[in-house]
Amino acid sequence: MIQRSYWEWDTWFRDTDIIIVGSGIVGLSAAIFLKTHVNNLRVTILENGVLPSGASTRNAGFACFGSVTELLDDLAQNSENEVFDLIQKRWRGLQNLRQLAGDTALKYEAHGSYEMFKPDENATFDECMAQINFLNKKIAPITGEKETFVLADEQIPTFAFSGISHLILNRSEGQLHTGQMMKTLLGIAREKGVQILNGIKVESITDSSTGVLIHTKNGWEIKAQKALVATNGFTRRLLPDLRVMPARNQVLITQTIENLPIKGCFHYDKGYVYFRNVGKRILLGGGRNRYQQQESTDQFGITQNIQDYLKKMLREHILPNQNVEIERWWSGILGIGERKSPIVRHISENIVVAARLGGMGVAIGTLTGEQGARLLL
Ligand SMILES: Cc1cc2nc3c(=O)[nH]c(=O)nc-3n(C[C@H](O)[C@H](O)[C@H](O)COP(=O)(O)OP(=O)(O)OC[C@H]3O[C@@H](n4cnc5c(N)ncnc54)[C@H](O)[C@@H]3O)c2cc1C
Repeated sequence: MIQRSYWEWDTWFRDTDIIIVGSGIVGLSAAIFLKTHVNNLRVTILENGVLPSGASTRNAGFACFGSVTELLDDLAQNSENEVFDLIQKRWRGLQNLRQLAGDTALKYEAHGSYEMFKPDENATFDECMAQINFLNKKIAPITGEKETFVLADEQIPTFAFSGISHLILNRSEGQLHTGQMMKTLLGIAREKGVQILNGIKVESITDSSTGVLIHTKNGWEIKAQKALVATNGFTRRLLPDLRVMPARNQVLITQTIENLPIKGCFHYDKGYVYFRNVGKRILLGGGRNRYQQQESTDQFGITQNIQDYLKKMLREHILPNQNVEIERWWSGILGIGERKSPIVRHISENIVVAARLGGMGVAIGTLTGEQGARLLL
């Protein structure tokens, strides 16, 4: 352990009001909310990575709230109220994010998103079509769009897909630049006076009558009045009893493709597979449901079986008969659970958790951070 000097303690750690563990979209949104509402609060974020290192800088940048199969799946397992309440929160979260960061900084593009079906999935497609009017009616008051979901089969030749029989368009979804989103949020937090310290891994967090005590991997003890744990897929390492399971997602991006005909976001297999254009490239990820046990981990990594699955999807359906080079692979860690809504609650008097963001954390992240922050005020 390297002992902290008096100067280091006095300058960076003395008299901290609130510590936030994790600088993902939730931790940053919470910090921004706190400083916006109580300007003189001393807020410090402790982040394990050199950059935010979980899901927020590694995701696909879909600004989405749900595809038809995903929503029908949710409705089969949850009450109608729960499902549409969550859609509303995702929608509000997206509007919050766009207002906070601005569409230009986010590189937000409103091309809509499509759900695709193969010919052997016609029964599922028919079920979806039978429920479209119902979903559109329920979602119209949320998005203001009378018909959010519409059939878009005429687009299949435009996108030059192969082996795809149907497309359903969601007109209200968009896409953004994940890196620019996080860079902008980091900038706003710093501008408001939030102190962000990278390379500090929190190993334990305890509450007492005098406040919160944090132990870090490098042997330091850090004190604060209150704390927010915003560690999503890594949360059980700090709070083992919380029902947040880690789930890895692997992603690829191609080199640039001249005359790429694909524009927008695409969901397949209840959202377990997703792809989009990033300028003239294709970003494709997912498939964790095929190797559930293997992917239930908070360790980053790329595996041959998922690579093979995603490459097959790319070459057989998305960019058929094209010899496209893959430029880069990476992975990110989600926090999931038996329910899709995030956990935002007190763990003890001075410690709050805001975690389990699932696969649509870009949408719901700002709102979840704000909810966590409110519990600290
Ligand atoms: C590959 C992939 C694709 C996705 N695509 C989309 C998408 O297109 N649209 C969408 O809406 N959502 C998507 N998601 C989900 C979304 O990215 C997440 O729900 C969201 O980013 C979660 O934000 P967070 O702040 O809760 O967690 P994270 O971003 O994971 O932040 C947690 C932070 O805590 C830090 N941390 C963890 N433990 C410690 C510790 N002990 N000490 C200090 N720091 C610690 C981590 O380093 C990390 O930076 C995707 C996720 C992945 C992995």
